[in-house]
Amino acid sequence: MKSLWNESEAAQYPGELGQRVYTSRLLGRDASLVLHGGGNTSVKLREKNIFGEDEDILYVKGSGWDLETIEAAGFSPCRLNHLLKLAKLGELTDLQMANELKGCLTNSAAPMPSVEAILHAILPGKFVDHTHADALISITNTATGLSRVQEVFGDRVVVIPYVMPGFKLARLCAELFPKNAGPRTVGLVLMNHGLFTFGDSAKVAYELMIELVTLAESYLAKHKAWELPSPAMVPAPRAARTEIAALRKDISAAMGVPAILAVQGSATGHAFARRSDVGVISQQGPATPDHVIRTKRIPMLGRDVAAFRAAYEAYFAACAAKAGRKLTMLDPAPRVLLDPELGLCTIGRTAKEAAISADIYHHTIDIITRATALGGWRALPAEDIFDVEYWDLEQAKLSASGKPPVFAGEIALVTGAASGIGKACVESLLKRGAAVVGLDVNPAITKLHCRPDFHGIVCDLTQEAGVTAAIEEAVRKFGGLDMLVLNAGIFPPGASIADMKAELWHKVMTINLDANFLLLRECHALLKLAPNGGRVVVIGSKNVPAPGPGAAAYSASKAAVNQLVRVAALEWGKDRIRLNSLHPNMVFDTALWTPEILASRAKHYGLTVEEYKTNNVLKTAVSSRDVAELAAEMCGPLFAKTTASQVPVDGGNDRVI
Ligand code: ZN
Repeated sequence: MKSLWNESEAAQYPGELGQRVYTSRLLGRDASLVLHGGGNTSVKLREKNIFGEDEDILYVKGSGWDLETIEAAGFSPCRLNHLLKLAKLGELTDLQMANELKGCLTNSAAPMPSVEAILHAILPGKFVDHTHADALISITNTATGLSRVQEVFGDRVVVIPYVMPGFKLARLCAELFPKNAGPRTVGLVLMNHGLFTFGDSAKVAYELMIELVTLAESYLAKHKAWELPSPAMVPAPRAARTEIAALRKDISAAMGVPAILAVQGSATGHAFARRSDVGVISQQGPATPDHVIRTKRIPMLGRDVAAFRAAYEAYFAACAAKAGRKLTMLDPAPRVLLDPELGLCTIGRTAKEAAISADIYHHTIDIITRATALGGWRALPAEDIFDVEYWDLEQAKLSASGKPPVFAGEIALVTGAASGIGKACVESLLKRGAAVVGLDVNPAITKLHCRPDFHGIVCDLTQEAGVTAAIEEAVRKFGGLDMLVLNAGIFPPGASIADMKAELWHKVMTINLDANFLLLRECHALLKLAPNGGRVVVIGSKNVPAPGPGAAAYSASKAAVNQLVRVAALEWGKDRIRLNSLHPNMVFDTALWTPEILASRAKHYGLTVEEYKTNNVLKTAVSSRDVAELAAEMCGPLFAKTTASQVPVDGGNDRVI
């Protein structure tokens, strides 16, 4: 492992807090050191308080911040003396500790300090760095981990046996560290958890971390447990998309809410899921306490959700009885799944959660593989995992997290999503918490949003093979389909029937009608498996109730789709799928309407552009966003009892009224 310290980069971070920010980010850049909010850092500074007195302040990473992107505001200023006094208390519950941590801040607007704040306070050195380095965990999580750690680091670290993070751990370190530290001590190893280093400058503490982790890596290499096998290419999952969607439905039922199921398709995940010993090495527990919540106790092997659920319920009952506390069981749904065909899959309430679990589990695979090569992987005992899972602080966090967005855990597919109404629909659905797959023939679709809950696929809707491949990809990405927004369509240049070429007629029908038939047919089985029932919204047109001369092909295609959807509503009601149409008119903020076209059309009617835009009963302009918001609402609870409706969104049209 190389130090990333760079003098000119470091110079851009002035002051000691600035240096603290800089090396925290260096740690955060390496996913084998810290992942997704894991790890924490601190600096002890002397400051004048409001009375003009000198006071020692511990700036420690606040919760909700990631080391990779942390800023000065992400460090919570705690009164150091207060923390040192807390460390001397014989007893303190974790909820009391959380209260004290919040109470000793000098800035009431600062984030909640890390639960490891007291540990940072008692360690010597102005700068303290803490990681959950993969290489260290690969060594500690073995049968002879303790003696191996002593062999690797000698008297350079103090080793603390595993205790759950929180007050008890801080208390134990406060007791053992001064007793066992010597003149060569530069760090602290927490068994099955991580590593601390400290120093008088940010650079020293950081480079000691790199040095100690490198020692761990070299030890693994010496024991032929460092190089990971390079797995073979992943074969495409053989499971049909409906099998994946059915699995997601079962998992959602166990979770009690719709869930995202992401088939990772990684070679590493696949190879691990197919190991002959996967039933042993994957079923012992997570690598570190901070992985417990994200990956759950153990991954689910195969696809039998009922069996996993029963095993979890039995585990909870046994542990809860032993703990002698009254506890409410968390949902018995897995967060990680290993299947010989599907490989590694991760589950989350949102696409982001599933992505985080995937990152963590990929590291877990590396750790388990190395520990196994070193002589046998050993996770935390089940009771310790249970303690973390049912930790007061985690429970408090869960009950504090607000109401989830209306479409959390649900998946929407939008056609023609790169621009105009389709693009606006993507935004309205994302805003409501859905994971969205956007299809468009325009390659810009792949870059429309860079976030874990959006996936853009380039797709020509007139090519059947391309459409089915895109649906397949959407299901592997998020696990199924709950909402379908049929938006893609073309509006050809005006042509009277007498002059219209058959070619134009067919082109319009192919895109506006045939493609929608194909999408409906191919998505039906998936929508039927939607945990909360499937929903389809069709972006129709004012031309359905009020066609215009010169637009025969367009009007006929839209009217045909309208009729198709009415039949689908009759056929699919028994499958809990509802379909509704909206009929927009004169939506001018789309690629179709350039300022030139707008000006010429306005002129044609003897109106100003503004008059033309608001030429409706309500004298109001209709935007893509107006249409998209209605489309999203049609998928929501407001329209739960409505199917086959047709709602105009046109400012009121006297020909329709
Ligand atoms: Zn930690």
